[in-house]
Amino acid sequence: ASYLLGLTGGIGSGKTTVANLFHARGIDLVDADIIARQVVEPGSSGLHAIAKHFGAEILQPDGTLNRAKLRQYIFANENERLWLNSLLHPMIRETMLSSAKKADSPYVILVVPLLFENGLDRLVDRTLVVDISPELQISRTAKRDNVSEDQVASIVASQVSREQRLAMADDIIDNRGVIAELEKQVDLLHQKYLALAASKTK
Ligand code: ATP
Repeated sequence: ASYLLGLTGGIGSGKTTVANLFHARGIDLVDADIIARQVVEPGSSGLHAIAKHFGAEILQPDGTLNRAKLRQYIFANENERLWLNSLLHPMIRETMLSSAKKADSPYVILVVPLLFENGLDRLVDRTLVVDISPELQISRTAKRDNVSEDQVASIVASQVSREQRLAMADDIIDNRGVIAELEKQVDLLHQKYLALAASKTK
């Protein structure tokens, strides 16, 4: 597909839920979280570079990345965080774009939690933001992950604000209601994106 839609939203807003509704309508998905894991899987050049930089103690006995340790390192040292981002972000970006090109649905959705934060909105033709209130983000995520509401609230506070995200959105999908209401909005947006994708390739 050559028409790319970037789907984003805060933690627990319903990105996965919305993406699955588009997928049910025949649209291919490229998930940034999955690709972020692929680029550091055993045997990858990403993992090789990380092990060279931080030393073999960044690997678990089975050869996979010790994510908890890596998180500690980059939390404690801003330069290490920048180094890691400059290694991985281009890899993630290139892998997402090549997967999107290979997909053969009329348009393709890149599901990217930090679409605006990481500037990936510049790679897509259009952005769609899933919107709910911070209160709903907190209650739905705490329930889903069986974690405390305080823990989710601190993640919500670390992301771009609801207002900033909405200001940057081309389209907004309201996920405060029931799934049936979400389906109606997805149907309308899907028709709109089919038309936009068709007019781009002409
Ligand atoms: P994350 O950012 O953590 O990856 P997400 O944005 O992908 O989350 P989902 O996992 O799709 O969000 O949704 C968060 C939780 O809210 C899930 O348990 C999901 O089933 C539930 N949920 C999503 N939409 C609704 C809705 N309209 N009504 C009730 N529950 C919902």
